[in-house]
Amino acid sequence: MDSKAIVIDGSAMAERLRNEVAHRVEAFRSATSIDPSLAVVMVGDDAASQVYVRNKMKQTAVVGIRSVEKRLPRQASESEVLEIIQELNEDSSIHGILVQLPLPEHIDPSVVVDAIDPNKDVDGLHRNNVAALVLGEEGLVPCTPTGCLLMLRQYAENLSGMRAVILGRSRLVGKPLAELLLRENCTVTMAHSKTAELPTLCRSADILVAAIGRPNFVQGEWIKPGAIVIDVGMNRIKDNDGKRRLVGDVDYQAALSVAQAVSPVPGGVGPMTVVCLLRNTIQAAEGQLGQA
Ligand code: NAP
Repeated sequence: MDSKAIVIDGSAMAERLRNEVAHRVEAFRSATSIDPSLAVVMVGDDAASQVYVRNKMKQTAVVGIRSVEKRLPRQASESEVLEIIQELNEDSSIHGILVQLPLPEHIDPSVVVDAIDPNKDVDGLHRNNVAALVLGEEGLVPCTPTGCLLMLRQYAENLSGMRAVILGRSRLVGKPLAELLLRENCTVTMAHSKTAELPTLCRSADILVAAIGRPNFVQGEWIKPGAIVIDVGMNRIKDNDGKRRLVGDVDYQAALSVAQAVSPVPGGVGPMTVVCLLRNTIQAAEGQLGQA
């Protein structure tokens, strides 16, 4: 297949952003003599979550952010989790709090997320931060949509007037990204599992974002020639030879032959998400210490 699209290199962009964050961390430390600090709360021992948490903590160290892990057993009660959150809220040496999702079924994630001090809510999921995003006010914005927007800006300086179709309407990705793209004056359509005529809708998009969790779901013929395609999906599939492989929601090879630019999986949105978490942490620390 004739490939012509630009590959949106999320790893390289994330590396540049990490350097920027490291400079902000250094400036913050020189001005305040305080280490910007992130607390990661993990309940249970979900294997994928453990990998994500380890990776996040490793990367905080790279930019000079201190990280603290609070691990609770799977059977911990909701009130035990809320107690930890309260302690972290009151601890002035902690500037960012992240609760690794998913939580065990007996714990309501929205109760836990809304217990976090919104100024420390580096995942941007607290209802005050959600409201701030919708109202166009200052607040902490979820990391994955921020990463997607930064990638888009790299390939289209002015997004105004572009038609964006977002597949997926989750609170974590689709909805906040729709708000961010509206702010950029895109014409935004959100699609989901009940959307009719998905291929036709996708084909109308100058910007197509797939965040549904269905391996290789978006076909080449669904993509408008010259569109920018951002693939948020992270799906582990088994190859014909039995090897496990990470793929996105878009048929990547097919997209390469139609689109103007495509983000790969892995090496696209994933690294950008983690670096946006580091950015949110330094932003939260600056805000709390009046350094913003
Ligand atoms: P989610 O909460 O499960 O939401 C999935 C969304 O996709 C829902 O809105 C659902 O529609 C929609 N959907 C499912 N099947 C569909 C179909 N056949 N056609 C159209 N829409 C469909 O997922 P999420 O947390 O947003 O994550 C989505 C994907 O992104 C996952 O693969 C996840 O691993 C990945 N992800 C990656 C990163 C990263 O850093 N790269 C970060 C977060 C998530 P309904 O609302 O109608 O059910």
